[in-house]
This record gives sequence, C-alpha cells and structure tokens, in this order.
Amino acid sequence: GGADIECDVLVLGAGPGGYSAAFRAADLGLKTVLVERYPTLGGVCLNVGCIPSKALLHVAGVMDEVAHFADLGVAYTKPKLDIDKLRSHKEKVVGKLTGGLAGMAKGRKVEVVRGYGAFLDPNHVAVELTDGDGQDKTGKKKVVKFAKCIIAAGSQAVRLPFMPEDPRVVDSTGALELKSVPKRMLVIGGGIIGLEMATVYAALGAKIDVVEMMDGLMLGADRDLVKVWEKHNKTRFDNVWLSTKTTAAEAKKDGIHVSFEGKNAPDKAQVYDLVLVAVGRSPNGGKIAADKAGVAVSERGFIEVDNQMRTNVGHIFAIGDIVGQPMLAHKAVHEGHVAAEVAAGQKSSFDALQIPSVAYTDPEVAWAGLTEIEARERGLKIEKAVFPWAASGRAIANGRDEGFTKLLFDAETHRIVGGGIVGTHAGDLIGEVCLAIEMGADAVDIGKTIHPHPTLGESIGLAAEVAHGSCTDLP
Ligand code: FAD
Repeated sequence: GGADIECDVLVLGAGPGGYSAAFRAADLGLKTVLVERYPTLGGVCLNVGCIPSKALLHVAGVMDEVAHFADLGVAYTKPKLDIDKLRSHKEKVVGKLTGGLAGMAKGRKVEVVRGYGAFLDPNHVAVELTDGDGQDKTGKKKVVKFAKCIIAAGSQAVRLPFMPEDPRVVDSTGALELKSVPKRMLVIGGGIIGLEMATVYAALGAKIDVVEMMDGLMLGADRDLVKVWEKHNKTRFDNVWLSTKTTAAEAKKDGIHVSFEGKNAPDKAQVYDLVLVAVGRSPNGGKIAADKAGVAVSERGFIEVDNQMRTNVGHIFAIGDIVGQPMLAHKAVHEGHVAAEVAAGQKSSFDALQIPSVAYTDPEVAWAGLTEIEARERGLKIEKAVFPWAASGRAIANGRDEGFTKLLFDAETHRIVGGGIVGTHAGDLIGEVCLAIEMGADAVDIGKTIHPHPTLGESIGLAAEVAHGSCTDLP
C-alpha cells in the first residue's frame, strides 16, 4: 500500500533518546519524522520522571534545610503547604521544557506525528493518531515509510501482580501527580526512584515505611556511600525494612492493608493511605510489533544493539531504556546522537568509559565509572583515596559535613577508573569525575588542578592529593 508520509528517518518515541536522535538527524540534513503517542514531547524524563521529581525534591530540600535553621540562629515558623500551588509549580517547570522541545522540533522541521506507532514491515510504521490532552485514539491512521528507523519507545513501571487496582496504589507517575499528602505511606522498592519520592513525601509531612526485598538500598552504589545516606536518614522514615518481601495487599475502606515476609518484617499487615510501587522499569519492546520488521526482542522486552546502536536489522536502530541498563536519560541522549549520526552515514559509535548515576536524595549519592565492587569483580587492583567532608571548610560552613568524596585509581597506571560522592550537591559535583575518567586523568592531573576554595568541588582535588601522596612511583 501507499504511505501518507515518507522520510529518511523515523524516530519512534520522543523521550530524551528519541528527541535527541531526531534533532541530530535533522541537523545532519535528514528528513525526520518523530512519532509520539503523548501530547507533549520529552518522554518519561521530562513529563513524569527526572524533571518533575527534581522540581519537588528542590522544594523538599529547602524545607528540610530551613527546618534546621534554628540551630544556626534563624528560626522559621512551621511551613504552610499549599499543595495545589506546589503541583502547579511542578507543572509549569515541565511545561516550560516540553514546550521548548516542541519549538526546537519546529525550528528543525522535524515532523511530529502524534499517535501509537507499530511496525507493518521493515520499512513502514502505522501510526494510530491520538488527539486532545490525553492519549485518546482518533480512529485515524497514518502510514509512514522510512529508509531508516530509530526505536526509542522507552520503558514503563513494573507492576506487582497482587496489588489491588485502587487509586491509593500508584507508580512513580501517580506519586508525581501529588494529589494529596498521605498520613501513612509505603514505598515498595529502595532504589533511586523509590527513595527520591520517599524524600519528597517525608518533607511534605507523610509518615513513611520503605520496604526492600534485597539486603541493601540503592544497590549499584558502593556501600560506604550508602551508609552515610542511611545515617543521615535514620529519623526521616518510620521504618526501612530490608530483605523483606511484600507478599499481599488488600484495599479496604480504612486503607491499603499490606503484608510482608522476612526476618525484619512486621508480622501484622500494615495499613497505608498511599502505596508507591517502585520496583523497577520494564522496556516497551514487546508493544511495537517489532517482529513485523524482523527486529529481535528479548523475552523481557529489551532490544539488543551493537555499539553503533544497530539492531539485528541493519537499517533499524534502538536507543535508551529499551536497549538496557542503566535506564538513565543521559545514556539515552548519547545513544540517540550515535544512532542519528550512523543513520546519516557517519562512523560514530557508543564507547563511553562511564555512565554516572545519581540519587537526588538528601544527602545526594553520586557515582561514576567503576565502583569498588565492580573493580573487585574484574580483579583490578585499585588505589582508593577518600576525602572526608568533615575536613572541608565549605561543607562545615554549610552545616552539612557528613559526606565524603572517594576516587578510585588503577594501582598500576594511577589513572582514575571511578569515583563516588555522598553529600549535598553530589550530583552536580560528579561531572568532574566523569570528565577525568574520559580524559584518562591520573591522580597528579586531578590533584594539581587548582580548584576554587572554599567549594565542595575542591574535595575532588583534595581526594586526588591523598592518592598522589601515597603513590611513590609517579612521574
Ligand atoms: P522514554 O523517556 O521512556 O520515552 C519513550 C517515549 O516513547 C514515551 O514518550 C512514550 O510515550 C513513547 N512511546 C512508547 N511507545 C510508543 C509507541 N508505540 N508509539 C508512540 N510513542 C511511543 N533518569 C536520569 O537520568 N535522571 C533522573 O533524575 C531520572 N529520574 C527519574 C525519575 C522517575 C520518577 C522515573 C520514572 C525515571 C527517571 N529517570 C531518570 C529515568 C529516565 O526517565 C529514563 O531513563 C529516560 O526517560 C529514558 O529515555 P528514553 O528516550 O529511552 O524513553
């Protein structure tokens, strides 16, 4: 059959991966079509992920900070929460960014087609058009013919099969809607997303239990970083149950009754006004009729790609959450650029030495490159250098000296292979560690770099000096 639209590149999904790929493809002169089922561009990250969560975390952070200002000699009265205003602030932040993307698409002549896309064959996608503020299907369809395609359909929250269908049971999207502040809230899952949302709701006044099936929080981060977070958060939450399984839940009038199993678990069911399920995200690979294009999708919904982001079908690429861990926006963006460049005939490839992770909690926990755990697994001999913030003038002046900065060097070459920071603004600080790893910097390079004083960033230079001092065979 004929096609309604023909293009060089069709990008399926307008999250950070998709819009980055589409913009780069258009900049390289390709006729680009961007298919997105939602009314706004930006995907999970801008609409219901990174950005709204950070808008709320900023407010939560300021509230927590001023709550302790009496100790510093400035007392505030109790905060008065106007939740409608807070919600509308968050929505304005999101709107500004998604609106900006729409403008950027227009400026580049990227044609945005709003609807659900699915493959018809290796060169056609059918889009069931959507309309209005929601994702309402209009019953109309458009067929797009493409020479190349970039799949960027992202991921969605994993559901727990035994959770009742009830407005008091939400995923991160529901929690970010911020309908009201519950009295008692359960957060299932002690990963980054669960703990960020727990931090927000705790600041707004909810009493919170966190339950995690594994024996640690923020798995993936080194335990010494997480320990500092745990110590600082001892009183923020009512309970943090580790090695505990959530086994059943029942919706009753007085709340959601949830049962647990494990040596730390309460033996009686607990009652909550809000339950956030944050147990991971699963890729959308199974929902785009990939088989009709011959694209292989794993049982779990992931699409495998090579370092040029090509799937098993040479002219079809995939990027972002749908190709695997870590499911992070900055990874999706870089993969999107590679896919677009390769589609345009350039010899790009994805060969990042590191992808940073940040928990925007209080304090923040950030890490990049190899963790100590990973270095050990690889049998790499490392040298560890730690600078405690208790010795940082700026951290002490801020009244927040609980953190530390840690750098990991290859013991043979003294080049930096990883680093971790726990403390306020750790997420903003880790970028320097990322650059150092990519540049192949060694302890002397970092230690001899003059950092501004007094700053938290200085702790990176000072940590390197610790290592530098302990290295006897440096040039
Ligand atoms: P997505 O952002 O998932 O976008 C995919 C898009 O494709 C969606 O807009 C979807 O509607 C569309 N789509 C899917 N199927 C179809 C179809 N068949 N037809 C048309 N359109 C379709 N990452 C960070 O790096 N930093 C953070 O601070 C951070 N915070 C987060 C907080 C929360 C609460 C959540 C949930 C996630 C967070 N993430 C964060 C993760 C980040 O949001 C994702 O890694 C990122 O959005 C992935 O981008 P993507 O382009 O792969 O896909």
